[in-house]
Amino acid sequence: MGDSFATRRRRMVDTQIASRGVSDPRVLEAMRTVPRERFLAKAAAELAYEDRPLSIAEGQTISQPFIVAYMIEAASLRPDARVLEVGAGSGYAAAVMSRLASHVYAIERYPALAEGARRNLAALGYANVEIRAGDGTLGWPEAAPFDAVIVSAGGPQVPDPLKHQLAIGGVLILPVGGERHSQRLTRVTRTGEDRFTEEDLCSVAFVPLIGKEGWRED
Ligand code: SAM
Repeated sequence: MGDSFATRRRRMVDTQIASRGVSDPRVLEAMRTVPRERFLAKAAAELAYEDRPLSIAEGQTISQPFIVAYMIEAASLRPDARVLEVGAGSGYAAAVMSRLASHVYAIERYPALAEGARRNLAALGYANVEIRAGDGTLGWPEAAPFDAVIVSAGGPQVPDPLKHQLAIGGVLILPVGGERHSQRLTRVTRTGEDRFTEEDLCSVAFVPLIGKEGWRED
């Protein structure tokens, strides 16, 4: 018999995440806590702790665990943080953030994925996450301002609505690039009403961010 999911999850954190430089103990603990296998179809659950993205419905993916941890660490979430995720997919990254922040709002473009993410989170009793179906490039204005916005899909530029829904001091972590499947992970910090700084973090390959402030559908 193979190792239990809990054993594999601990090993994943040691060998794929901590060993590559993610060191925030709260992030590592959240990654040890949230069962990634519960965000996958039954047939794929066995693959849950592999070091790669995996397919979910609608031709989308659940991101590689390392990049989930890396992006969340880059957002420096405090326990009282209000967070927006664009690209909820299976709900896994939102679940990890829900262990670190006070409330997570997450938007997913495909209604069927949004419904699945809601079900996955409810089944685990993670009650501080709200999922909405829609175009996340426009943000969630009624719930703004956010201390952090994480975009889990890659767009051609930084969507203006997301910058302006940050609290002063808030951070936006997102893949940006001129090609649909290859981007630079970028951190935008709102330093004043109309002042923002931008940092380049690393090279990434996310599925495209499709919407009014992202790529066109075709
Ligand atoms: N964070 C997810 C998880 O933990 O399963 C994985 C996200 S997957 C890499 C990217 C997701 O972004 C896809 O589910 C895709 O449908 C979604 N997406 C793309 N453009 C979007 C948009 N404008 N608004 C909301 N979701 C979008």
